[in-house]
Amino acid sequence: MTVALIENYIAGKWTAGASPAEDVVSAVDGSVVAQSSTKGINFAAVLDHARNVGGPALRKMTFSERAAMLKALGAAIMERKEELYEINGWSGATRRDGWSDIEGGAGTLFAMASKGKIELPEGHLIVDGPVERLSREGTFVGQHVYTPLQGAAIHINAFNFPVWGMLEKLGPTLLAGMPAVVKPATPTAYLAEKAVRIMLETGLLPEGAVQLIAGSAGDLLDHVTGQDVVAFTGSASTAGKLRTHPRVIAEGTRFVAEQDSLNSCVLGPDATPDSPEFDLFVKEVVREMTVKAGQKCTAIRRAFVPAALLDTVQAAIATALAKVQVGNPSEKETRMGALVSLAQREDVREKVKLLMQDAKLVYGSLETVDVLGADLGKGAFLSPILLRCETPATAKYIHDVEAFGPVSTVMPYDTLEGAIEYCKLGKGSLVMSVFTASNEVAADVVMNAGAFHGRIAFINRDNAAESTGHGSPLPVLVHGGPGRAGGGEELGGIRSVKHYMQRTAIQATPEMLSAVTRTWQPGAPVDSAAPHPFRLKFGELEIGKTVETEARTITLEDIEHFAHFTGDTFYAHMDEEAAKANPFFPGRVAHGYLILSFAAGLFVSPEPGPVLANYGLEGLRFEKPVSPGDAIKVRLTAKSKKSRNADYGEVEWDVLVTNQEDAPVARYTLLTMNAK
Ligand code: NDP
Repeated sequence: MTVALIENYIAGKWTAGASPAEDVVSAVDGSVVAQSSTKGINFAAVLDHARNVGGPALRKMTFSERAAMLKALGAAIMERKEELYEINGWSGATRRDGWSDIEGGAGTLFAMASKGKIELPEGHLIVDGPVERLSREGTFVGQHVYTPLQGAAIHINAFNFPVWGMLEKLGPTLLAGMPAVVKPATPTAYLAEKAVRIMLETGLLPEGAVQLIAGSAGDLLDHVTGQDVVAFTGSASTAGKLRTHPRVIAEGTRFVAEQDSLNSCVLGPDATPDSPEFDLFVKEVVREMTVKAGQKCTAIRRAFVPAALLDTVQAAIATALAKVQVGNPSEKETRMGALVSLAQREDVREKVKLLMQDAKLVYGSLETVDVLGADLGKGAFLSPILLRCETPATAKYIHDVEAFGPVSTVMPYDTLEGAIEYCKLGKGSLVMSVFTASNEVAADVVMNAGAFHGRIAFINRDNAAESTGHGSPLPVLVHGGPGRAGGGEELGGIRSVKHYMQRTAIQATPEMLSAVTRTWQPGAPVDSAAPHPFRLKFGELEIGKTVETEARTITLEDIEHFAHFTGDTFYAHMDEEAAKANPFFPGRVAHGYLILSFAAGLFVSPEPGPVLANYGLEGLRFEKPVSPGDAIKVRLTAKSKKSRNADYGEVEWDVLVTNQEDAPVARYTLLTMNAK
């Protein structure tokens, strides 16, 4: 077989590092499959290229353009996924393992693209939270906004998910408008390189948006600034080293880490050997031990079960593990492949020996395993290993040492409080799962263990069929954890985009703030000249365009008619005595929905035109009751716009309903779709 030279993608060119290159070997048979070198790369220039070329190009694109780009990149990965599966086996991963890496990676791009399209505004800036009124007259207001950082995002990734691990960081980074310098882990850099080639060959990534350093990071971190972000996934010890790099500290460089984590899984106190939760728990522990040969940051390392069930659980897990065929990933019957390298296997063996100071090995062997279609001496194969620790309260290593392989420890607990305390001994984890059908158990766990976990999954008979399981990080949910797990959050929907942006509090007049945020703010000038805003196409409609209506007096007949027509004969609208007795009402009052309906009748411009549909309203508040005889009027103002496609876009309208004294009676945001 020819040995591939993994190239670096630097400043717009595929570049081979200088000799001698480092051999990258197959996990399955130890043969050299590729070589990598980053020698001779000018790392300072790499960062400058990202900052000076990639960043400006990305920042010119709007959020929706960046979202569309992510979607297309994900589609390219899916179209050419077989090229990735072809080399996936070198890492020891089975096709099923590769699915979560390759297709899971593309899925993450799709999810971020969709979040970006739907949840991010038109333009380049994210508005955070409501306007804060800072002065009596309302001329001085405050608003938080996010803008993209102007440095480079340095992604240092782990060996276990070379594609997903890269894409789950690239999605939020590119969506934010920041360029990335990707540094995959050397043992599986060939997969990252291939995925980067596929993405670059779409021609969609602006120059400098993504560069690849496929090997040692050299002196990269010596050149970071306060506008850069280092996002790291890997071991706690490397994270510690990089986090305390003198330049990272001196520049105040943002550091996001996701590092090894002693995740736990609890079989609820309500479970019995016959309950569905028992079987689900056993299946999940076995799955987490064997998928990716246990080389998953979220894998279950500690499994806690009610003391009375310990023997039964242990036996059930052992029985299931006995059915797991270890072997060459290219063999059809193989259920679990190899670890990434012989060195990683050695590391796991050493770690298990430490764990065995607290625990007994009750399934598997450190030395031998039946391997299908490969040679145990040459490939990094290891038997699944189940340990049993009787004394979790005093264990020294179980809560501290991560054996990053097919290894898990079962332990007994007496009370739920005890189990929660054991989970917390991991000093902060990415995830815990609880197999329970009890709502009380769930509430207890969240209140007492939430602070120590980035994600908590409750799995039971009602959601198991649809559950994504203990170990799957989801793009829309937080992936990261406190303390030992690194203290970072890699994913979490739009939250993850903000790691690559700066939040700034803006203080200004409402008019200036409207101009900055491209969102009309109350207090800013309005344009209420003809034509009616509903006559304007999406592109013609300016923020601040307003219609102010005539007043309409609401009569008792209107209220009665509305009540009988809709069936809403609630006493506050129908019974003067009863309404008066209510502390909120002076007597009979108009229905809130009547006010909304009359408001629509007042502000509408009814003839066919660019307004295609009303698709909802947000933030509705009824601020003052409306009594018979009150006269209401409406001010409808275009607040913000967002293009959806070539044909139409969304418009948000600020709607203010006032009475004859100009006092607000209702305020809300109306959402419409408008033709272009
Ligand atoms: P490392 O922490 O050694 O490596 C992670 C990444 O950091 C790799 O890309 C590596 O590059 C890079 N790196 C290492 N040293 C430096 C440095 N000085 N400057 C810049 N980058 C650096 O983890 P391993 O991959 O070796 O795995 C070791 C252990 O870490 C595992 O056994 C497991 O316990 C844990 N781990 C946890 C993961 C998680 O997701 N929570 C994932 C992977 C590992 P290179 O490969 O070129 O050295």
